[in-house]
Amino acid sequence: MKPSPFTYHRPETLEEALATLADVGGDGKVLAGGQSLLPLLSMRLAAPAHLVDIGRLRGLAHVTRDDGGVRVGALARHAEVERDAGAAAAQPLLRRALRLVAHPTIRNRGTTVGSIAHADPSGEMTAVLALLRGSVVLASASGRREVAAADFFVGPLESALRPGELALEARFPAAPARSGSAFVELARRHGDYAVCGVGAVVVLDERGAVASARTSYVSMGPVPEVLDLTADAPPSGADLADSAAWRAAGARTAALLEPDADIHATADYRRHLGRVLTARALAEAAGRARAAARAPEPEEALRA
Ligand SMILES: Cc1cc2nc3c(=O)[nH]c(=O)nc-3n(C[C@H](O)[C@H](O)[C@H](O)COP(=O)(O)OP(=O)(O)OC[C@H]3O[C@@H](n4cnc5c(N)ncnc54)[C@H](O)[C@@H]3O)c2cc1C
Repeated sequence: MKPSPFTYHRPETLEEALATLADVGGDGKVLAGGQSLLPLLSMRLAAPAHLVDIGRLRGLAHVTRDDGGVRVGALARHAEVERDAGAAAAQPLLRRALRLVAHPTIRNRGTTVGSIAHADPSGEMTAVLALLRGSVVLASASGRREVAAADFFVGPLESALRPGELALEARFPAAPARSGSAFVELARRHGDYAVCGVGAVVVLDERGAVASARTSYVSMGPVPEVLDLTADAPPSGADLADSAAWRAAGARTAALLEPDADIHATADYRRHLGRVLTARALAEAAGRARAAARAPEPEEALRA
């Protein structure tokens, strides 16, 4: 099928883009990498009257590391964020999760902020932003606001973005000391959307005990659910890098998550994957946290 007719706008500046978005309001859609929007248009699942292409706003292609963490601009492609050494050093979960997003060709066009704005609960970067307690900076002709990830994802493909707003930047906090992260998932073929995916961050205290164990999920609910599983962490003395030690934490997800069935998996199968992958992700993250606690540098698992 072909898309419904639309008017195409290609602003040269941010001001022009925001003025156009204000003009067209709810009839307009931002076009970033087009990797999600164009299929939706072609299938006529979306039919905006105006497309505002932000491809010329090169000032929004930044990947910046600062004291607070990593700031990713609206035009930074997944591949650019994935390759950025400073971003990977400050927050290793970015690179780990991005390697699982689609295929390299799609990552060369698709943007990380676009994927967050799209608010697909099957997207890895929505889960990463939620898990890290990041935020999104939104701009419109009347000003800017910063929305925490917990308030940004409202439902499947539904976010806090209002008509006339552009997501300017996503902010990912840096990894704290003595922490480790992991992202594991199961997809039918490499590069497909995951049937179930789990991101995990484990932080240890000064004695090497688990101070915090949190997870977030892909394809396991309408929004990227975040769980605090610290109470189910293995006791001191257990081998934290062994997924068997995290079995209780994995088991608890069955009571906390309510995945849907679809053509890819039954809800029961997803719950099973949730249990297994949670234990696996937490063990991997905890192993890295232990290595980080022993090393003078922050988590050193970028090569993994
Ligand atoms: C075959 C295939 C497999 C894929 N597999 C995966 C996968 O495994 N995991 C995954 O996470 N993604 C996957 N994707 C999607 C990919 O990551 C997209 O790049 C991403 O979802 C959207 O980014 P985009 O820049 O292409 O956005 P677009 O397609 O341009 O836009 C998507 C939506 O977000 C809005 N939007 C985009 N940018 C902004 C902005 N700055 N401000 C406001 N609104 C904005 C658009 O209006 C639109 O509604 C896949 C895509 C394809 C085609």
